[in-house]
Amino acid sequence: KMSDMKQYLAVNPVTVDGTKIDVCLNIGSADKSELELEQYTDGVGLFRTEFLYMSKQKLPTEEEQFQVYKKIAEVYKERPVVIRTLDIGGDKKLDYLELPQEDNPFLGLRALRLCFEMKPIFKTQLRAILRAGYYGNIWIMFPMVGSIGDIRFAKEIIREVRSELEEEKVPYGRDVKVGIMVEIPSIALMADIAASEVDFASIGTNDLCQYLMAVDRLNPSVAKYYQSFHPAMFRLIKQIVEEFKKQGKPVSVCGEMGGNPQAVALLAGLGIRKFSMNASSVASVKKMISQLNICKAQRMSRTVLELSTAVQVENYLNSEFLE
Ligand code: PEP
Ligand code: MG
Repeated sequence: KMSDMKQYLAVNPVTVDGTKIDVCLNIGSADKSELELEQYTDGVGLFRTEFLYMSKQKLPTEEEQFQVYKKIAEVYKERPVVIRTLDIGGDKKLDYLELPQEDNPFLGLRALRLCFEMKPIFKTQLRAILRAGYYGNIWIMFPMVGSIGDIRFAKEIIREVRSELEEEKVPYGRDVKVGIMVEIPSIALMADIAASEVDFASIGTNDLCQYLMAVDRLNPSVAKYYQSFHPAMFRLIKQIVEEFKKQGKPVSVCGEMGGNPQAVALLAGLGIRKFSMNASSVASVKKMISQLNICKAQRMSRTVLELSTAVQVENYLNSEFLE
């Protein structure tokens, strides 16, 4: 089955009625194996940089990070490479970094919140990313943004780093875009204001589902409550997409739903034109896109917004996509 699917790798992801959809890669390193599908993708939509930190016994230096980011930027040339700043805490730990014990780590000092507490570590990473931006089309993305205040504070730190690089006469990307993950419902509901503060957004459906449905994404005993196809997810995503589109700011999907062909069809119906996914999903998503009609996708998404349960959504999708 997988070998049949492979023929779709080289397909240009354009719908039957001529809408181009960007298909991008989620990566965790600059290793050759991770970049194998580079030629078949429109960019990197999510570089989970925490793996750089987790694969070592100590913090990666600015230079080490710079080399990794620069390498990816050079491979992708003019295509965008979205580098997400450190997203640890929650389920991801660093052995060499003493983090407080928490009763609810997913609701705790995680990702951007942790970076605000460890400003020197955050600034080192931002320096490396901005410097790599000189060599390609790098976009910076903040994880776990919960408020407009988070956005402003993060941007303030970027300004600080930029002026330091400026002062030191170190080359860096002057037009590096700055964006956010939308994965906490509070910022999703503030999308109109968030959109005016950033250059782009990417919807992290894994955490968005976790926080919207109040279900630990890793806890098997509540797995049945983790319903990423719940109509509530699509209603919220619709609102995010509309607000960003109004202001002409790109919005993509980089959670697991972005690699699920049926979800991609629905999300394209809601207006998403860029998806980022694991390498294993690229062929099947391209297949879906190349067989999709945007009018049909829009009709499907309108139907789904009126359904009551996740099961109804799944059954509806299965019936629509019956071969
Ligand atoms: C997400 O939350 O959807 C996401 C893409 O980030 P991660 O899975 O790394 O938390
Ligand atoms: Mg996330």
